[in-house]
Amino acid sequence: METKIIRNPSDADLSIVAEALRNGELVAIPTETVYGLGANGLDVEAMDKIYAAKGRPSDNPLILHVPSIESIWPLVKAVPETAMKLMTVFWPGSLTITLEKSDLVPYRATGGLERVALRCPDHEVGRRLLELAGVPIAAPSANISGRPSPTTAEAVFRDMNGRIPYIVDAGPSNVGVESTVVEVHDDAVIILRPGSITKEMLETVVSTVTYDKALSTDAKPKAPGMKYKHYAPDAPMKTFVGSPKDMALAIMDYVRSGDMDQGGKIGFLLSYEVQEELGRLGYPLDKQSVHIFGHHGDGLSLAHDFYRSLIAFNEDKVHYIIAEGVPLEGIGVAVMNRMEKATNGDIVYL
Ligand code: AMP
Ligand code: MG
Repeated sequence: METKIIRNPSDADLSIVAEALRNGELVAIPTETVYGLGANGLDVEAMDKIYAAKGRPSDNPLILHVPSIESIWPLVKAVPETAMKLMTVFWPGSLTITLEKSDLVPYRATGGLERVALRCPDHEVGRRLLELAGVPIAAPSANISGRPSPTTAEAVFRDMNGRIPYIVDAGPSNVGVESTVVEVHDDAVIILRPGSITKEMLETVVSTVTYDKALSTDAKPKAPGMKYKHYAPDAPMKTFVGSPKDMALAIMDYVRSGDMDQGGKIGFLLSYEVQEELGRLGYPLDKQSVHIFGHHGDGLSLAHDFYRSLIAFNEDKVHYIIAEGVPLEGIGVAVMNRMEKATNGDIVYL
C-alpha cells in the first residue's frame, strides 16, 4: 500500500480523508499530544486494523476522539456531574475521561471493558477532521507498539509507511506526550496515566484527585496499557535528576567509568545549563549526538522534545543515551513516567 502524506490539508483534502475513515481505512491524524493512528471507532474491522498495523496487544483499549462535548452523548450511559465539569474546563484539550459505554460502542474499542475512554483534542485540523468524519475516531499513538510515539508526520511515516493510506501533516505536536487519562467517581478523580493536564490543574475543579496505585507500586493498572513497556529507544538509556552541577559531575563520572566505552556516539538530552556545566568541566560533546530541550527544570520543553529526541537518537544509531530529568511536579510527573519506561527504571535522583 502506498502511504500518502497530505501536507497543510485543505477542507477538500480533509473531506476525502474523513470519507476514508468512515469507510474503515486507517489515517494518521494530528493532535496536540502526539500523532494518532485513527480508525472509525464504531467499526470493529477498522479497529482490528489499528492493532495489526501497530502490533498492539489486543487488551490495550483505544481512546475515542470526538469534536465536541455533545458528540459523546450517544457513546455513554450517563455523564456524571464531575465529568461534565472536567469536560467544560479542559476540553478541547489533553484530558481523556473514561465513562460507562453505551451499547453503540463495540467492546473492540474498550478492550472488553465497560468504560470507554473519550477525548476532544485541542487541535484545529484534528478537530475539523473529526467533525467531517461524523463518527468517533479511535486513535492510539501512530507508532509501532513499544517504540517512541510520533510527534511529527515524518516520524509517523517511518513506522507506518506501507501500512496505512494517509498521513495528515499539520506540523509538530505542541504538547509532545500523551493525554492524561482519568476515571471519574462522584467528586473524585483517579489519574490512570499522567499527562499535561496535571494533578494540580484537576484539583482546581475536583476536590479529590489521586494517582492510580499502579503508577508507584506493582499493583495492576486500571489503564491496561500502562503495564506494557512503552516508548523505548533502540539504545539503553539512563536519566539523572538534580542540580546542573551535580548532574554534570555525575554524567562525567558515568561516561568515564568505562561502562559505555564501546566507541560510537552517545545521545545526550540536556538543558542549556547542564550542557554549559559539562563544558566548564571540560567534557567535549562535539562528537556526540546532542539534543538541548530548553532550560533546566522546564518540564514543558522536555515533554515537547522527549519523543522526537529519542527518535533522532535512533536515527543517529547512538549506542547509549544519557538524559536529564525534571522534578516530579506538574507536567514533570508525566515526563518522568515516560522516562521510567524508556530507561527501564534507570533514573538516578542526585
Ligand atoms: P494510547 O492511545 O496508545 O496513548 O493509549 C491509551 C491509554 O488509555 C492506554 O494506557 C489505555 O490502557 C488507556 N485506556 C483506554 N481506554 C481505557 C479504559 N476504558 N479504561 C482504562 N484505561 C483506558
Ligand atoms: Mg501509545
